[in-house]
Parts: sequence; C-alpha cells; structure tokens
Amino acid sequence: MSAPSLEKALLGIAGVGLLTAPLLVAPFTVTLLNYMGIGALVALGLVLLTGFAGLTSFGQAALMGIGAYATAWLTARMGASPWLGLLFALGLTALVAAFLGAVTLRLGGHFLPLSTIAWGIAIYFLFGNIPGLGYHDGIQQIPPLTLAGLSLASNSAIYYLIWGTLAAAMWLVANLLDSREGRAIRSLRGGAAMIASLGVDLFRIRLAIFVLAAVLAGLSGWLYAHMNRYISPSPFEVRPSIDYLLMAMVGGPASIYGAVVGAAIVTLLKNFFQGLLPHLSSNAGQLEIVAFSILLILILQHARGGVMGTLRRWVSSRWSAACPQASKKGLPRRPLPALGTPLLRVDGAVRRFGGLIAVNNVSFEVKAGEIVALIGPNGAGKSTMFNLITGVLSPSAGKFTFLGKDMTSWPQRKIATAGIARTFQHVKLRPGMTLLDNVLLGTYPRTQAGFARGAMRLDRAEEAQATVEALRQLDRVGLGDKALDQAGSLPLGSQRMLEVARALAADPVLLVLDEPAAGLRHGEKEALAHQLRQLKSEGVTILIVEHDMDFVMGLVDRIIVMDFGAKLMEGLPADVRASPIVQEAYLGGVT
Ligand code: ADP
Ligand code: MG
Repeated sequence: MSAPSLEKALLGIAGVGLLTAPLLVAPFTVTLLNYMGIGALVALGLVLLTGFAGLTSFGQAALMGIGAYATAWLTARMGASPWLGLLFALGLTALVAAFLGAVTLRLGGHFLPLSTIAWGIAIYFLFGNIPGLGYHDGIQQIPPLTLAGLSLASNSAIYYLIWGTLAAAMWLVANLLDSREGRAIRSLRGGAAMIASLGVDLFRIRLAIFVLAAVLAGLSGWLYAHMNRYISPSPFEVRPSIDYLLMAMVGGPASIYGAVVGAAIVTLLKNFFQGLLPHLSSNAGQLEIVAFSILLILILQHARGGVMGTLRRWVSSRWSAACPQASKKGLPRRPLPALGTPLLRVDGAVRRFGGLIAVNNVSFEVKAGEIVALIGPNGAGKSTMFNLITGVLSPSAGKFTFLGKDMTSWPQRKIATAGIARTFQHVKLRPGMTLLDNVLLGTYPRTQAGFARGAMRLDRAEEAQATVEALRQLDRVGLGDKALDQAGSLPLGSQRMLEVARALAADPVLLVLDEPAAGLRHGEKEALAHQLRQLKSEGVTILIVEHDMDFVMGLVDRIIVMDFGAKLMEGLPADVRASPIVQEAYLGGVT
C-alpha cells in the first residue's frame, strides 16, 4: 500500500466516523466535537502561519473575536441575516488583519510575536469597552443559523456545518500548500536569501498567509457566535490564543491534519483538567495554565513535529510515495538573445561595508553565449559583486545594465523575473523538501498561479508543465532517479547540482554560479564542467565565481581577476595564468 492510498483509507474511516458521530454519541460529546471543529479551524490558520511561515501569533483568539462580534452585532443588534453576518465577519477580520500585518510583519525576530500579544490584548479590551458591544456582559440572543429552510439551532445540526466547513477549509489549504505559492510558503523557514532570489515577494506572501489565517479565525468566530448564541470578551483573550497555538504544536505544526488532531487532544485535555483540577485546588484556572505550559515545553523539547510529524516519519519509513505522472509538455521557454549581444554591463561598481570597501570601482561586461569567470583570492569581493548583480545588496555607487535596461535599482524579484538565476556559495536548499519540490521552486518566476487558483486546484495544467520542467532539469544534472528523496539526504556534490537544477528551472538568460566547484570531488567537478559546456552550447550565458583556477582554465572564455575589491586584470585564460601580477595575488594558490 502506498502512502497516499493509506491516507485516503484513513480519511475515509475518519469521514464515516464523523458523519455518524452525532447519531451515536451523547449530546455533551457532540458539543465537545463542535468545540474541537471550531478550534481546529483556528489551529489550521496557525499551521499555515506558524508551522509553515514561522510567524508565531498569540492573537488568533482576538481575530476570532472580531468575526464573532461582527456577526453578533449585525444579527442580534441590527437584525440582519447571519449569512450577511458571515460576509461582515470575514470582511472585517480580513481588513483588520491586513492592517495589522502591513504594520507589523516587517518586524524581525521576537518583535513580531510580541506585537501579536500587544494587539491581541488591545482588541480584547476593545470588545469589553465599546458601548455597542455590551461591555463585559457581551451580546445575547444571537439568532441561530438556518440553511435552506433548515434550522441549525441544535448542536447536532450545526455540527455538520462546523465539520463541513472545516473539511472544506482543509481541502483548500492542502491544495494551496501543493501549489506554486504553497511551495514558496513551505520554504519560508530556513532563510530569506534563497526564495527572494527566485523572485518571491516575501512580504506579500507573509501578508497573504497572515490574512488567510485571520479569515479562518474569523470564520471560526462566526460559527462560535451562532452555535453559542451568546458571546462575551473572555473567549477572545490571549489565554485561549495560547490554546490554539498549542493545538497546532501538539498536532503537528507542519501538517493540516495536525490542526484537527491537536484540537482534539487539547479540547479533551481541557475537558479532563476542568473535571479533575477543582478537586486538587480551588485555583483550577491557574493550574490548567501550569499543566498546559508543561505540555508545551515537553513538545518543544521532544516532539517538535507534533503527533502528525511523528506519525509521518513512521509512515514514510514504510511506504513510498508515487512519482507524479506529468504530461510531456514543459513550460514555454523565453527567447534567448543572439550570441554576442551585450547582456550584463557593470560600470564602476562600488560597495562599502562601513569602512571596508568590498568592491572598489569594478567594471566589466558579459556577452550572450559566453562563460565568464570572476576569480580572486578569498575576500577579494567576488561574492559581494554577485550579490550586487542579483540585487541582494544595493551598490554604494555604479551602474548595472541588463539587456540594455538600467537595473541598478531593481529589486531582487524583478532581476529574477528578468532572467538572472543564481546559486549560492553556501548551498541553500530546503533539506526537508523533496528534490522535485526544490527544483519546482525554481520555476516560480516563470509560472503565474496565485493563491486562489492554487487553493481551488485550477492550477493543475501549469503545475503539470512545471513538473515536466523540474524533472527534466533533475535528469539533466543526473538526479532524475532521486526526485522524491529529501534534499537533505544528498551528499554535498549532489546538493550543488540540485542548486544548479533549481537555477536552470527558471529558464535563465544569465546563470550566475558562486563557487559551484567548492567541496566537489574530482569526478564531480568534471561532470559539472561538462554540464556547463552543454549549457553554453544551448545559448545560456554563465558568470561563474571561482576560487579554483584550474577548474575555470579549460572551461571559460574570459577571466576577470579581482583582488582586494578591485579588478586586477581581465583576459583570456592563458594570459591570466601567465600574468605575474595574478600569480602574486594568488601566491601559492596556483598549483
Ligand atoms: P569573496 O567572495 O571574494 O571571498 P566577499 O565578497 O565574500 O569575498 O567579501 C569581500 C570582503 O567584504 C571581505 O573582507 C568580507 O569580510 C567583506 N564582507 C562581505 N560581506 C560583508 C557584510 N555583509 N558585512 C561586512 N563585510 C562584508
Ligand atoms: Mg565568496
């Protein structure tokens, strides 16, 4: 049995169980299941936000409260339909989240989670202090939902709406994670440099996930308000926010099923503690916090992947996934400029780091179809030069031109989309993702499917083309048979080739490689050189930074030598090798 069919079988069993549950269990258990479903919706948002994007929020309950209060006010106070309440709840939550996200998402490190506590508390206080919202008594007599003439007033009736909504939300999120934007979301953790170099707009993606998680919380709040028919501020303070975070962590922060598993575990535990703790102490509420804090610490220390993470490791060690079947058609290729066209021009580039001048007035040109090497001893400024070309750093002075266009002030994204793809001196892959997914990331700048298309699976044709493309590039670098292995399992040499495949998947006009031969064995170096010659013959222009002079000698058309940030000389490989000043700069580096 393969892993996907095991998943289908388990889902089928869970589905039948959930469909029949209200008929089989006591009313109290149905209520508990309803709370689980409502909690799982919020936790699902946190799986995206915290599990995948690494953004911890202690404010999800407050966002849920916005959804709940919005619909409560509109329906109980203004007499509107709960379905209008739904639109209002989702719209208002999205709006508030977009504002909060725009203001806070650029904060780094611990400031972002801290800011979520701040606005979480602020929103909670607003609920208790806005006159129209009933102060701390809240809003009573919220009307029940009706669907197609059917009243959903009873707990077992709204149960189906809650779990149906949750199933739909999980389907959408699962699709999203399996799409172009989803791959970018999954690789948000582990450093920004790599995914920014692929043309991903990090801020836009983080904001979109933040709003999406908030909308899921708002949706949950809407369900909560019409199930409970009464709301007050207390379920929307920071403490329940921590419960939701705990749900995501316990279940498995990197799994959509984790949201449900975690919600079930935390809801049952809460229920258990609420029954048990009053017997132990009169301060039961405080004891519950202590018990949950201990649980959180244990998870963080022993099971970062949560229940689902542990389960998945167990399953994947026994069952293998099936390789995706792709159609034969790849992505459309961009026209390459005619050989000899000036491709990249660097005029008087300068980059200072404080008092240090890492790149000092360097000028050179690369023409279409050439392989040019930038060589020089360690610390000469080669990587800095590359970071200037690819937009990672902005120059202190100088002008950069690409295909006749001034790209000096272009953001990284625009440079990537224009056709400059790169690899890194220190390999930047996502070790927990498959080789195929890592290379698919490279297709980001030449594909279009956005969040909505991905979530609704309307991106399948493009995805199939991208998959053909990625498999083709993997084959090209000799890793085709390992497409579904995890990137982290590869030896360094293969990881470097995987990075080259990812860069090639972008269909670059100019490929910039930062020390691609570093750490490779002799045989691997020859394979790499063969690969680069092959690319050149296909019309791809390559700029390669190398420390190893021998590697570039037989490979490149022209060499630019840098030393102490400045250009030392430029010429044919043989001239450079014979040059006394270069020999002196390398002093013993040439063998
Ligand atoms: P190379 O790639 O040729 O070995 P680099 O471009 O990495 O050289 O570094 C050139 C010089 O700039 C070195 O002295 C290095 O310490 C310095 N440098 C590089 N990046 C930074 C940075 N972000 N901040 C400060 N100094 C830097
Ligand atoms: Mg370097």
